[in-house]
Amino acid sequence: MSRKVLVIGEVREGELRNVTFEAITAAKTVSEGGEIVGLLLGSDNLEDMGKEMIYYGADRVVTVQDDQLKNYTSDAFGQAAMAVIEDEDPEGIVMGHTAIGKDLSPKLASKLETGLISDAINLEESGDNLVFTRPIYSGKAFEKKIITDGVIFATIRPNNIKPLERDESRSGDVTSKDVDIKDLRTVIQDIIRKTSDGVDLSEANVIVAGGRGVKSSEGFKPLEELAEVLGGAVGASRGAADAEYCDYSLQIGQTGKVVTPDLYIACGISGAIQHLAGMSNSKVIVAINKDPEANIFNVADYGIVGDLFEVVPKLTEEIKKIKV
Ligand code: FAD
Repeated sequence: MSRKVLVIGEVREGELRNVTFEAITAAKTVSEGGEIVGLLLGSDNLEDMGKEMIYYGADRVVTVQDDQLKNYTSDAFGQAAMAVIEDEDPEGIVMGHTAIGKDLSPKLASKLETGLISDAINLEESGDNLVFTRPIYSGKAFEKKIITDGVIFATIRPNNIKPLERDESRSGDVTSKDVDIKDLRTVIQDIIRKTSDGVDLSEANVIVAGGRGVKSSEGFKPLEELAEVLGGAVGASRGAADAEYCDYSLQIGQTGKVVTPDLYIACGISGAIQHLAGMSNSKVIVAINKDPEANIFNVADYGIVGDLFEVVPKLTEEIKKIKV
C-alpha cells in the first residue's frame, strides 16, 4: 500500500542538517512507493535547501518562510507545520530525533490524535507491517514497534539510517505556502551560544570524548587535536563536566546527548552505565584508559591500556602521517 509521506526537514544556521536526508531514506520505506513531500520551516534561503531535499529523494517540497520561524519555538513551528499537514493530509510523517524533533513531534502527534514512534534506529517491512526498532532502557535492549492505526509518525535517531546518494538530476517543485502565524506565547529574544563552531556532536561521525582522566580543561587540548585531524567532535563524560573541565553541552550519556558515531574514542572515561547509555551503540568504540579493569573495556572494540596523555598525541601524529 503506497502512502504519501511528509518529511519535516531541519535547518540550522542556514544549513540543512544531515538527519533531514536520513529521514528521507526512512520515508522511502514508509511510503512504499508513494509520494515524499519535504517540509521546510525557516526565515530565509529555503528554496535552495528544498532543492537539496529533492536531490536526496523528496518528490516535491513545501516551504513556509516567515521571520517568526527564524529560531525554533514550539508555538510558531507547530502552527506552520500543522497548516501544511492539514493541506497535504499525509499518511506518514518522518523527522529527526533532534532537540527540535523531540519537542515538535509529540505536539503534532497529539494534534493529529495519532501515535508516535520516537528515536527509531531502523525500520523494515515485515509482511503487512512497517516495523520500527528503537533502543529502550538506556540502550540495553531494543523494542520493535508498529503503528496499527492513523498516521505513521516517527522520529529517527541521527546517524543510523544512511542517506541516499545525492542526485542533481532529480527534479521536483519547491513551492512556498503562507501561514498566518499568530498569538505566539513565546518569542526568542536572543541566543547566547556556549559552544564554539565545529562539528555537531549528535551528527558527528567521529567523537573523541574525555572523562575525569583528562584532569583539567587544558587536558582536553590533545583530544581536540585528535578530533580535528579526524574531522570529528569532542564529547565528554559527566565526570569531566562536573569537574568543570568542559561545558555540560559536551556531556554524553543518560542525562546528556545520545550519539551513534562511526568511531567513538573514549579517553580517561571509566564506563559508568550512565555514560554507556549515550554511546554504546557507536559503530566502533576505542577506549584509552590506564586501568585495565575499567568497565569501558567491556564495550570497546579496541582497548589501549595506557596514559591518555602519551597515547592520544601519538595517535594524532600517526593519523596526520596517513592523511598527508
Ligand atoms: P571516573 O569514573 O572518575 O573515571 C575516570 C577514568 O579515567 C578512570 O577509569 C581512570 O582509570 C581513567 N584515567 C585517569 N587518568 C588517566 C590517564 N592519565 N590516562 C588514561 N586514563 C586515565 N555520566 C555520564 O558520563 N553521562 C551521563 O549522562 C550521566 N548521567 C548520570 C545520571 C545519574 C542519575 C547519575 C547518578 C549519574 C550520571 N552520570 C553520568 C555519572 C556516572 O555515574 C559517572 O560518575 C561518570 O560517568 C564518571 O565519569 P568519568 O568516567 O569521566 O570519571
